[in-house]
Amino acid sequence: MSTNLIKISERSYGFLDFGAAKVERVGEDRQRSFEHYLAEGHHADMGYLARNVEKRFDPALLVPGAESVLCFLAPYGPASGGIAGFAQGVDYHKIVKDRLFAVIEDIKAQFPAFEGRPFVDSAPVLERYWAVKAGMGFIGQNNFFISPEYGLRTIIGVIVCNVPIDRFAPHAPLQVTDCGACGACQRACPSGALYAPFHLDARKCISYQTIESKEPVATSLAARHGWRFGCEECMRACPWDKPLTPLPEFETHRAELETMKPDDWAGLSEEEFERRFADSGLMRAGYSKLTK
Ligand code: SF4
Ligand code: SF4
Repeated sequence: MSTNLIKISERSYGFLDFGAAKVERVGEDRQRSFEHYLAEGHHADMGYLARNVEKRFDPALLVPGAESVLCFLAPYGPASGGIAGFAQGVDYHKIVKDRLFAVIEDIKAQFPAFEGRPFVDSAPVLERYWAVKAGMGFIGQNNFFISPEYGLRTIIGVIVCNVPIDRFAPHAPLQVTDCGACGACQRACPSGALYAPFHLDARKCISYQTIESKEPVATSLAARHGWRFGCEECMRACPWDKPLTPLPEFETHRAELETMKPDDWAGLSEEEFERRFADSGLMRAGYSKLTK
């Protein structure tokens, strides 16, 4: 191994895996499928997805001088109380970004010329695409990033940096490079949102309706399936799904969320909601949506 390699001990920060990909414009296929998704309106009212599309296709437009995309997998636990697993604690953007900043500081200590910007699902970066390019897994027909070793319950954190990929230790080659196409995810989707392999209409998706949509949850569909924030039906059905030991911050609200019944939600004042969940991703859906 070259002594010139920059060493990243991803496990020191609780990440399960690390990989690096060379910055380049994303492939034509990915561009076309994203443009089709937008053209069909399947992004619903998530207007931010339609902005900065060129930057989404080329990280060098987002971070001048970018050479590599570093990808990290942060594990979260199961859903509980109708709340998705990734929302059982502190907002995942903060959990993962704090760790990415620590990684950046660590690399800078070894290599002062290093410059990197962290991204966690909050800027026009195709995290799943880059994790695949980094050799860490594949995209399933349910649109989740799937690590053959760690499954689906991970948030991908990304650092776009100014150091060429050959300065990082290579990721071991994957033994399995696609999901198996069993179709279980599509059959498990209660709303028809996953209407074809790899194709999701967010407007019908319980996860979108209960988290992102500005509208009240439109139908009783989410309630019928017991979902208040998110939906994991297409994840649970997948044979690649496996339990992981979550980072501790992903779990900080689990005990109280587990015990909350519909009446408890309905009886919660806005003040109490904000006091209890101020640091949580539940704030994204907001008081009205969660307490109806
Ligand atoms: S999250 Fe739920 S509603 Fe959305 S595609 Fe998956 S199973 Fe269907
Ligand atoms: S449920 Fe089957 S088809 Fe869907 S992502 Fe998992 S392995 Fe692929």
